[in-house]
Amino acid sequence: MTQFSADSAAVTLCECFCRDGLQHEPTILGTGTKIQLIDRLSTIGFKRIEATSYSNPAVIPQFSDASAVLKGITRHEGIYYKATCPNPRAVQRAVADLEQGFGANEISVLISASDSHSQKNLKRSRADQWDNIRQMVESSGGRFRIIGTISVAFGCPFEGAVPMARVVEDAQRFQELGIQYVTLGDTTGMATPATTRRLFTEIMRGTSEVTPIAHFHNSRNTALLNYVAAYEAGVRYFDCALGGVGGHPHQIKYGGGYTGNACTEDLVGLFESMGIPTGIDKDGLLQVSRQCEEILGRQLDSHIARTGWNPLTAA
Ligand code: ZN
Repeated sequence: MTQFSADSAAVTLCECFCRDGLQHEPTILGTGTKIQLIDRLSTIGFKRIEATSYSNPAVIPQFSDASAVLKGITRHEGIYYKATCPNPRAVQRAVADLEQGFGANEISVLISASDSHSQKNLKRSRADQWDNIRQMVESSGGRFRIIGTISVAFGCPFEGAVPMARVVEDAQRFQELGIQYVTLGDTTGMATPATTRRLFTEIMRGTSEVTPIAHFHNSRNTALLNYVAAYEAGVRYFDCALGGVGGHPHQIKYGGGYTGNACTEDLVGLFESMGIPTGIDKDGLLQVSRQCEEILGRQLDSHIARTGWNPLTAA
């Protein structure tokens, strides 16, 4: 395996347990537990933490405490605390919290790469969602780092293959709106290492100012393979969730009941064993991993949590 030592080899991981992870968990976590968890993630090396979502509390009660969580956490210099913003109302709430001194410093906006998925997931067409996104970018007033997310970028559960040219166009549209970070979401785990390499290469060719982010789901046990393929294509930003929790959109009935985010512990273990610096305190990560299992009351889907780190990995 290639060994990397230059800084440009290092990766930036976004820990998504507290939002993507918890979104479909039936147990509503206490606000204090979430704050404690985010604070712990801040101290073990994560530079991006998906903290909460400004979604409608009537639809997703898990995040009805979004403002309280953001108010309660201890912020660290250089860390981005992300809040998902599904609609213009969400951005208004993000701005209001920011004006009170405790908002997120990163928000994400979402487009589906297929119309069918857009209709099922967002209840509106792609064209309408682009109108929404333009409005959201405008009302954010340049006060946040905005992440443009393209879901079902590698394939749609309703339409099948998604043309790569469309995904590249979406990334270009984000770029035109001044958005510099674009996440490609493999929402139902249809990507392969080959399509991963091709699509990320096309995105980097087709946009001059976009930093791509990879978000793979482990529906078919391929997430880690795809992360390595994305890394080899030049991607350095990756999303993952402790214990592989989340990424399970059961309300719109796809994924065969199991999708799952890529597991943070296993991704850190893989990258570190390849000599790719993650910046994560590995002992601290295993402690948080155990804590997440205690919080959710079950064993989570992490191999490293059971086996420990690869003993050949340099300390
Ligand atoms: Zn996910």
